Amino acid sequence: MSDAGADPAIAVAIRRKTYSGRGGHVEAVRDLAFTVHPGETVCLIGPSGAGKTTTLRILLGLDRDFEGSVTPDPASLRIGIVFQEPRLLPWRSVEQNVRLSLPRPERGRPLDALFEELGLSPWRDRYPGELSLGMARRVALARALALEPRLLVLDEPFVSLDDAAASALRGVVFAAARRRHAAVLMVTHNVPEALEVADRLLLLTPRPARLVAAVPLATPKADRSRAWSEATRRDLAARYPDTVAA
Ligand code: ADP
Ligand code: MG
Repeated sequence: MSDAGADPAIAVAIRRKTYSGRGGHVEAVRDLAFTVHPGETVCLIGPSGAGKTTTLRILLGLDRDFEGSVTPDPASLRIGIVFQEPRLLPWRSVEQNVRLSLPRPERGRPLDALFEELGLSPWRDRYPGELSLGMARRVALARALALEPRLLVLDEPFVSLDDAAASALRGVVFAAARRRHAAVLMVTHNVPEALEVADRLLLLTPRPARLVAAVPLATPKADRSRAWSEATRRDLAARYPDTVAA
């Protein structure tokens, strides 16, 4: 459940983001504004190269070269991030990877409950090279959750996994987010996946990313059947053909 009345976990308003280089200028985002509330899951959906990762980098505070605002300042907000690439340190154990991501004074903190929750207890002393992609993403998730984030940002976290691994990881991710009443912002290409987990969809244009539509999904998640998902996807594809494939 989201509390739409409460203050948003984050409010993003990007007026314009342009990359400048030897090849000239690339406008990546224009007039894209949205909020995510505590306990709410919002999915950003847009074509490849639209400007989704650019948007995430801006709201994470990794890119400050843009026109617009992010409130509160990302530096003051605990944001957990899981990129598509797990980005683990190969010469450190699973546990060390998680601990090293924490601010120094918190590195000795007990993490048993977190490893247990994510099914990682047997893997604590293993090294990233020994892990499947699904397990490596769990470690990346553990690293994000160890921070006790108010906002969890996921950039296509389930791609390249087989259906069983994707579905298992999805279960773990959203149960963990619910337990913490965290806000979740997820980028995905996968519309059925978004229809399964989201409270709201944000549909983006091809580059430069602009908001085409914000689509609230009122149907409770427990009642979202395959038929509902397919009908909703078809309806969105008819209305927003540049964003949702038919
Ligand atoms: P998406 O995540 O939606 O696939 P991105 O945000 O990664 O898209 O990229 C949006 C556009 O900006 C693309 O055309 C990409 O080539 C360009 N772009 C991304 N990063 C840079 C960069 N560091 N320098 C120049 N252009 C970039
Ligand atoms: Mg991307």
